[in-house]
Amino acid sequence: MRKKLIAANLKMHKNIDEAKKYITKLSNLVVKKNDRDVVVAASSILLSEMKRACNISLISLSAQNVHWENSGAFTGELSPKVLKDLGINYTILGHSERRQYFGESDNSLNKRLKNAIKNNLSVIFCIGESLEERQANKTEERLNSQIEKAFKGISKEDMKNISIAYEPIWAIGTGLSATALQAEETHQAIRNTIEKLYDLELANNIQILYGGSVKPKNAKEILSQKNIDGVLVGGASLDPNDFIKIINFDS
Ligand code: PEP
Repeated sequence: MRKKLIAANLKMHKNIDEAKKYITKLSNLVVKKNDRDVVVAASSILLSEMKRACNISLISLSAQNVHWENSGAFTGELSPKVLKDLGINYTILGHSERRQYFGESDNSLNKRLKNAIKNNLSVIFCIGESLEERQANKTEERLNSQIEKAFKGISKEDMKNISIAYEPIWAIGTGLSATALQAEETHQAIRNTIEKLYDLELANNIQILYGGSVKPKNAKEILSQKNIDGVLVGGASLDPNDFIKIINFDS
């Protein structure tokens, strides 16, 4: 039985005061359940204040990117070692906004991933196709290429710290979610690719999340699919009253 992972991506939203209020409120709303984990990814500048206000037995905090070195002349980058020293155990990597606006390449993501793992971070690794790629029936080709390049040189043992978030670019922030069936089929294809690259055991155990316009009203259908092990939520995670409905999708 794979656990569900319900993750919020606050992106660059919220100032310090708002972030503290957000995590305090969410900590009060979340009830511990053994079948799911809750993660909140926030701008790195907010994480230490948020950690103070967060019930860390209920919610894990996450960064949104980390660098491939722990220190050095890399202006503007985030050290996974310092993140870990701060007590943060998760990071997102490869979000489409990083790829699109900051030129994050498959090669740099592979290096970032290796260093995140070296620092014992759990990683939510994002992949996804554009609308043009989906319309040209190139979804699987695109996803397989992202997976093969990202996980090059990553051992089966290290893969245990990685969850994959399938986020079709055309569904992010657009209100246009993939249907539960479209997402389920793609998740099955991703699992098959993992089996080919590694083995059936890992393919059966790896968590594959869906992201792209998940809302309280569609969360249950999406999360009921056999191969969907969680969600990465942008817009609908910004209000704890909405996000808690997604966390409690089945009640
Ligand atoms: C995201 O940015 O990861 C995301 C899924 O956003 P939204 O839920 O707003 O589509």
